[in-house]
Amino acid sequence: MFKIFLPNQFYHNVFQITPVYMKRNGLKGIITDLDNTLIRWDHPDATPELRDWFKGFTDAGIKVTICSNNNENRVKIFADQVGLPFVFKARKPLPLGFNRARKLMGLKSHETMVVGDQVMTDMLGGNLGGFHTILVKPIVKTDEWKTYLNRRMESVILAYFKRKKMLKWED
Ligand SMILES: [Mg+2]
Repeated sequence: MFKIFLPNQFYHNVFQITPVYMKRNGLKGIITDLDNTLIRWDHPDATPELRDWFKGFTDAGIKVTICSNNNENRVKIFADQVGLPFVFKARKPLPLGFNRARKLMGLKSHETMVVGDQVMTDMLGGNLGGFHTILVKPIVKTDEWKTYLNRRMESVILAYFKRKKMLKWED
């Protein structure tokens, strides 16, 4: 039950994802969510820490693409700061946006990681598309009102994983 929502790993934040982890799992590219995964949903700017994190991957020959359900303006302001390609209005969990991001990198889904802070969009869509999925904790507890229902469903699913001892936040 709920297997389609289960990520490959649970991490506290994106900084736990390293080029070493990518290599070990045969992964060549990252499709990352934006809001509450990389930056707070209500802030526009990349942090120096994030720039270093991206550089670690590009230096290792690993591609990164941003894939967000948010609008073009919001995603472009961030993506241009860090010089990364992006997909906006991705309509996750539908596979279309993820596949567009994957094709931009010229990779197969099994070579590509999907990282995000939401079970109902990022993990469901990533798993449906056959990607390696990583769930991170949201940067802030608050969210846009749109995500309210998704968060309610997510809490039920995460409680189930916890009961079944399938939920383990890696240190
Ligand atoms: Mg998000």
